[in-house]
Amino acid sequence: MTFQAVYTSEEKIKEIRNQFPILKEKINGKPLIYFDNAATTQKPQTVIDAIVNYYSHQNANIHRGVHTLSQKATDAYEYARKKVATFINAPKSEQIIFTRGTTESINLVAFSYARAFLNEGDEIIISALEHHSNIVPWQMVCEEKNLQLKVIPINDKGELLMDAYESLLSNKTKIVAVNHISNALGTINPIKTIISKAHAFGAVVLIDGAQSVSHLKIDVQTLNCDFFAFSGHKMFASTGVGVLYGKEELLNKMPPFMGGGDMIKTVTFEKTEYNELPHKFEAGTPHIEAGITIANAIEYIESVGFEFIMEHEQHLLQYATQKISEIERIKIIGTAAHKASVLSFIVQEIHPYDIGVLLDKMGIAVRTGHHCTQPIMDRFCIPGTVRASFAFYNTLEEIDIFIESLKKAIAMLK
Ligand code: PMP
Repeated sequence: MTFQAVYTSEEKIKEIRNQFPILKEKINGKPLIYFDNAATTQKPQTVIDAIVNYYSHQNANIHRGVHTLSQKATDAYEYARKKVATFINAPKSEQIIFTRGTTESINLVAFSYARAFLNEGDEIIISALEHHSNIVPWQMVCEEKNLQLKVIPINDKGELLMDAYESLLSNKTKIVAVNHISNALGTINPIKTIISKAHAFGAVVLIDGAQSVSHLKIDVQTLNCDFFAFSGHKMFASTGVGVLYGKEELLNKMPPFMGGGDMIKTVTFEKTEYNELPHKFEAGTPHIEAGITIANAIEYIESVGFEFIMEHEQHLLQYATQKISEIERIKIIGTAAHKASVLSFIVQEIHPYDIGVLLDKMGIAVRTGHHCTQPIMDRFCIPGTVRASFAFYNTLEEIDIFIESLKKAIAMLK
């Protein structure tokens, strides 16, 4: 990096940090260092303002009202849907289903698509890197319908074994569901290859994009995935809203996931006719203001720019990886060649929880435990890790403080 580039990016990060009020908080008397971005991201002022604005000027139920407020709220909600479609390059905004989050999006596919179209003996492939949200719904539907669940294994670096994946694929494979980026290890999976190989056997592919959508530019048409799921709260928007993108022909043939208001055209006691996309999958009053904040979050991400996000986060990851590797007794878990800004590690003979508690006393928020990926922890024969996960508002100085604090914590726990 040239001096000019460093200077420019420092200025830019300062400006970015000013947009996130929570980053000025003190925790236990120390400036907050927030390294738990894989769990949830902090919110920029524009998202916070959108929530206040919604309740100050727009609050009404959407889609059914003729009055002005209802139309305002509907317009803002539907604008967010269009924003999401453009953001991930979906052909139509009707292909964007608002859910409560990645978990609900995956459940929707499991309990609509898999339940309706898979038959006894059919197979679903997931990977050893999945979050429980991309394991349990498939197990539930497998049990109900007598399907087989197959798992792509990983190597010691936390990379998928692609040869093993190919040998799992067959004409029995109907669904492949994998994450784009592992929340526990940071591995970036070769999803384009995974998708094309699954398609060669006629299987549909769901990508769990919970960890990728705020770090990498997503283009669902180039990827050619059949479904793509993500959560608002991991991309600087509110909690309680998520997205399921699906190919139109699949969404059209899938039965509704839940019944209720908004997902119907007509209801009689004899028969109900379902609504068009996307409403067919959106029963009941949604989390309206959360949906609206997705538009603000996307506008914010775009104003920062993916080029900057990817370069800065890689810089943070490399710097932190190098610094942490110099500490004795540390073992990094997840050393894939292609990694996002997630640094999971263990300290020999010290429980991750104890490290997390001491770091918190020093103002540093990291996550400890199994990160909802117990099978990964079992694979590495560990109870859990300490995970530092970075976003574009984090800095090299924060990493320096984190490293010094970690050294202190280890010394205290010896
Ligand atoms: N998949 C991955 C890879 C995740 O990281 C998470 C959240 N940690 C989820 C799914 C579930 O997301 P949510 O809790 O927002 O539904």
